[in-house]
Amino acid sequence: MKPVISIKPRGQNLARGRVLLAGDAAGLIDPVTAECITYAIWSGQLAAHAILDCTFDPAKVRGRYQSLVSAEILVELKALGYCMRSRVYPLGFCENMEPPSANE
Ligand SMILES: Cc1cc2nc3c(=O)[nH]c(=O)nc-3n(C[C@H](O)[C@H](O)[C@H](O)COP(=O)(O)OP(=O)(O)OC[C@H]3O[C@@H](n4cnc5c(N)ncnc54)[C@H](O)[C@@H]3O)c2cc1C
Repeated sequence: MKPVISIKPRGQNLARGRVLLAGDAAGLIDPVTAECITYAIWSGQLAAHAILDCTFDPAKVRGRYQSLVSAEILVELKALGYCMRSRVYPLGFCENMEPPSANE
């Protein structure tokens, strides 16, 4: 079964040029409950923090946003993905819920 919205976070690829991917565009979705709105709002707030922290410098903003989302959201989604794969659907239903690798 293929989900309509990707439930695999984009991992290390959340900022491109002057664009910061947040919410659904970043694939920030709880794989257990399909909760999305919380992560959309949360990542939007982190984007605003990154922009202000780095005084609108695009390269610095990209790095700051990536590290904020990794530390606050991706770590949580990675743990939830592990629970989903190992406890809720251990039979292969959710192979596309692999947590992002370091290179993504
Ligand atoms: C029917 C339905 C029910 C849902 N129920 C729940 C729920 O109960 N709980 C939950 O957590 N989540 C739910 N969701 C998911 C939730 O709505 C989304 O995860 C959330 O809105 C994502 O926010 P976002 O800001 O990432 O994207 P969006 O809310 O989709 O915002 C993206 C915006 O960008 C605009 N846009 C797109 N392309 C362009 C462009 N080229 N130029 C300018 N603007 C553009 C779009 O018009 C849109 O306004 C539901 C979704 C649907 C469709």
